[in-house]
Amino acid sequence: MLAKITSCALVGLEGVLVDVEVDVHPGLVGKIDIVGLPDAAIQESRERVRSAIHNSHLAFPQRRVTINLAPADLHKEGPAYDLPIAVGILAGANQIPADYRDSMFIGELSLDGSVRHVNGIISMASVAREKGLRTIYVPHEDAPEAALVPDLTVIPVETLGQLVMHLGNLLPIEPYKPENDEAAEDEPPYATDFAEIRGQEHVKRALEVAAAGGHCVLMSGPPGSGKTLLARALPSILPRMTIDEALEVTKIYSVAGMLPPGQPLLRQRPFRAPHHTISQAGLVGGGHWPRPGEVSLAHRGVLFLDELPEFGMRTLEVLRQPLEDKVVTISRASGSLSFPASFLLVGARNPCPCGYYGDPLHECTCSRGMVESYQKRISGPLMDRIDIHVEVPHVDYEKLTGEALAEPSSAVRARVEAARERQRARLEGTPLYCNADMGPAEVRRFCKLDTAGRSLIKAAMMQMGLSARAYHRVLKLARTIADLAGAEEIAAPHLAEALQYRRRQGE
Ligand SMILES: [Zn+2]
Repeated sequence: MLAKITSCALVGLEGVLVDVEVDVHPGLVGKIDIVGLPDAAIQESRERVRSAIHNSHLAFPQRRVTINLAPADLHKEGPAYDLPIAVGILAGANQIPADYRDSMFIGELSLDGSVRHVNGIISMASVAREKGLRTIYVPHEDAPEAALVPDLTVIPVETLGQLVMHLGNLLPIEPYKPENDEAAEDEPPYATDFAEIRGQEHVKRALEVAAAGGHCVLMSGPPGSGKTLLARALPSILPRMTIDEALEVTKIYSVAGMLPPGQPLLRQRPFRAPHHTISQAGLVGGGHWPRPGEVSLAHRGVLFLDELPEFGMRTLEVLRQPLEDKVVTISRASGSLSFPASFLLVGARNPCPCGYYGDPLHECTCSRGMVESYQKRISGPLMDRIDIHVEVPHVDYEKLTGEALAEPSSAVRARVEAARERQRARLEGTPLYCNADMGPAEVRRFCKLDTAGRSLIKAAMMQMGLSARAYHRVLKLARTIADLAGAEEIAAPHLAEALQYRRRQGE
């Protein structure tokens, strides 16, 4: 007879319902035909399901089995269909009841019949709820993740044998009940806190401005000046993630198979620091069956690119689109898909190839030409996206991480959150999120200057030769600095600080 089981595929971050139709009918005994799965996956799934049924002390039907996974044109990848296929076979052979129209089944089977973890559970549970399904059967270890989606009964399955006892009403499995409300739980402390970084006060201030307005930063300084440490501390002063942001980030990590065990919901803002040898696909996502790249893994958090010039023009070029759109679009033969990628970019670079150009203590061994070409290795369009340029001078490591504590991240974050709140109120009704997002029209509207401010910026434009673009950048930064100060109007001191974060001459 024919059994129909609902399962789920992933397209990008979204779940798509898949019907697993199983027909158990007279014919060549024990033969399994599967249509609608790629070849390699068919073979593997067939063997796993057969062994799992045998090793669960269940009878594999002495008939012919035909399985269809629909829709046929949808790419179905991975082993998540093992469990629904096994349930379909047993239902088709009348070994268990046959009607599961309100349920979704997800799980990989191991040969001994135990049910193993599957990536993307939260996306699958979300679509189950959207489509009005009531119950989701998931691998035992994935139950806390599925339970993040409300209004679903989550059945945690350890083995196929256990599931059969449950479906046959012989020994029901208790639905998963979260021990504590994941959503209400506070974020765990960040590994690096501003309190641990002494000195470099002006860099910390620049990062505070960056966090407050969502501005991209470039730190320049010799090796050992603490650029990485400073960047690592940045997520701890960004505003606390809302529950919706936490769920977005969790979805990305779940689909990428990178959720840490025992942590179904990510509450911390991500920090990603890929090496400069990373491929373009690794950075923005892609591959044959697209996976989120580093820009998406950094969504709602910080993407730190150390030794920025080493990434090379072509790799950095691919950052432009996500920086502009806050989303990555990947084209494939079967259509395009997108991953969210709203991140704060923090770059770091040495002043020259040897690292000591301009250092009072070490001698730079690079030629003048080498220094100049090194500094030009970041493309103009990317440089245009960077609002804050800050020099990070050398300090003794002991001093940088000494005993006495600096102002803790929590205090800085309180100011950042207040500044964001002002922006939110001001930008309400626009699609913009923070000051860094403002275009020329918003700059004109929201960054008005008083007389003192106007004459200051006029003088600066003359003396420093600011371009129109640089002028807008300074106004946006001044808006953020005023927001940090709780000031409604941009005043001369805010402009003066913003002018300090401009690019070096000649870049
Ligand atoms: Zn040098």
